[in-house]
Amino acid sequence: LRPIHVIGGGLAGSEAAWQIARRGVPVVLHEMRPVRATDAHKTDGLAELVCSNSFRSDDAEANAVGLLHAEMRMADSLIMAMGDRHQVPAGGALAVDRDGFSAAVTAALEAHPLVTIERGEIAGLPPEDWDNVIVATGPLTSAALADAVRGLTGEDSLAFFDAIAPIVHFDSIDRSIAWFQSRYDKPGPGGTGADYLNCPMTEAEYNAFVDALIAGEKTEFKEWEASTPYFDGCLPIEVMAERGRETLRFGPMKPVGLTNPNDPTVKPYAIVQLRQDNALGTLYNMVGFQTKLKYGAQTAIFRMIPGLQNAEFARLGGLHRNTFLNSPKLLDGSLRLKAMPRLRFAGQITGCEGYVESASIGLLAGRFAAAERLGEAPSLPPPTTAFGALLGHITGGHLSADEGGNRSFQPMNVNFGLFPPVTVPKEPGKRLRGSEKTLAKKHALTARARADAAAWLAGAVA
Ligand code: FAD
Repeated sequence: LRPIHVIGGGLAGSEAAWQIARRGVPVVLHEMRPVRATDAHKTDGLAELVCSNSFRSDDAEANAVGLLHAEMRMADSLIMAMGDRHQVPAGGALAVDRDGFSAAVTAALEAHPLVTIERGEIAGLPPEDWDNVIVATGPLTSAALADAVRGLTGEDSLAFFDAIAPIVHFDSIDRSIAWFQSRYDKPGPGGTGADYLNCPMTEAEYNAFVDALIAGEKTEFKEWEASTPYFDGCLPIEVMAERGRETLRFGPMKPVGLTNPNDPTVKPYAIVQLRQDNALGTLYNMVGFQTKLKYGAQTAIFRMIPGLQNAEFARLGGLHRNTFLNSPKLLDGSLRLKAMPRLRFAGQITGCEGYVESASIGLLAGRFAAAERLGEAPSLPPPTTAFGALLGHITGGHLSADEGGNRSFQPMNVNFGLFPPVTVPKEPGKRLRGSEKTLAKKHALTARARADAAAWLAGAVA
C-alpha cells in the first residue's frame, strides 16, 4: 500500500497517523519542528500542549467534552490513551503531565512499524504524487503552506485570526424580556423579518454595562499576536466602550428600527441583538460582541444584560491569532478539500477549538483517509454523537450570517448546542424543573450519544 502523508505532528496529526497505522496502512508524518519553530511551541515533541495542561471535564454523562473523551477512548485514541496514562490530579477534569504525555505520544508513533516520522516544513502544496494527504498544521500553520492553501481556495477562505462573539443556549434566554424582531422588520436572505432576539436596556442599565466593560479584567495579547492586524473591522467590545460612552450605542448596540412589544411606548436606550447560530436553533450568538475580556468577567458582565440574566454560554468570546478554513464552504462531508480532494484537513485548522476537539477531528480524518486507501467508503459518525456533532459544525451544520448576509464561520468547542434535541424519558408522577430538567436532558443526550457511537464503531470496519 502507498503511504498516506500527514502534515503536522500536533494533537490532530499524531492522532490521525495512529488511526491510519492501526488500520494497517503505512503513514509518513511530517513535522517541521525542530527544523522550523512556531511562535507558541517550545519543544520538538509531537502533540505538544502549547498552553494549559488540561483536557477539560472528564464527565461523560453531563459534559460535552467529557463525552468526546469517552467516544475517543472507544475508538482507540492514542491521545486519550496517553492522556490517561499521564494524568495528574485535577478534580473532575483530565489534566496531564505535558512532557510525559508528549514523550509518550512521540514514542508510540516512533515505535509503530507502519509510521515514518520526517522532520521538515512542507512549504507549499504537497507534491502531486502524494495522492492521500491530511493537513493538520494547526492554528499556527507556517506561512508558506497557509499562502499556498489560500492561493487554492481564495482570499476569504482562510482566516488568520478569530473574532469570537459569545454564544448562548437559546433555552437560557429570558423570552419574557427579549423579543424576536429584525431591524425595521427587514427579512434578510432566507429570514422572516423576525430573525434577531433583542435585549433592551435603559440608560442606567447601559451606563452600568459600559462601566463594567471598561473595568472588566482583560486577557493580554501575546507579544507575537499584537502584531496581527486584526483590529480593522472587529474591535473588541470593551475597546469600543473605552473609545467613548456613546460608541456602542452607535455601533452594535444601536436601538434603532426596533420596538419592544412589552412596552411599545418606551424606546430602549440601547439594544443587544442575538442571532441564530446553528441550523437547529439551539444556539444564538451575541452580534458584534467579540472580546478579550477574561471568561469570568464575560459571564458576570453579559448576565447584566436584561434577558440574559440566566444565560448559559456555549462559547465565550475571544480574539486570537488562528489560521482556519471556511470549512462549511470548502470541505466535503469527510473533510476533503473540494478544490483538491487529495487533501483532507484535520484539527484546529478546520474550525474546531481545543486540544481534544482537534485530536478528535484528527481521529476522524485518519479513519476516513485509511478507509479511502483501502477502497472503502468513509463511514461518517451519526450526528447524535459528539464526533458527529463536531463534524457537523465543521462541514456544514453551522449557519450563522454576518450583518451583510454572508455566512460567517468561527471556531467552536464541542458543546450540547451542536447536538440534535433529545426527548427526556418521563417518569410517572415526577415533574422535573430547572437544573434537574437540564441535567436529565444532558444525561439523555450523552446516553444516546454513547450508544450511537458504540453502534457506529462496531458497524464501521474497525
Ligand atoms: P497543533 O497542535 O498546533 O499542531 C500543528 C503542528 O503542525 C505543529 O506541531 C506545527 O509545528 C506543525 N506545522 C505547522 N506548519 C507546518 C508545515 N508547513 N509543515 C510541517 N509541519 C507544520 N486549546 C486548549 O484546549 N487549551 C489551551 O490551553 C489552548 N491554548 C492555546 C494557546 C495558543 C497560543 C494557541 C495558538 C492555541 C491554543 N489552543 C488551546 C488551541 C488548540 O487546541 C491547540 O492549538 C491545538 O494544539 C491544536 O491542535 P492541532 O493539531 O490542530 O495543531
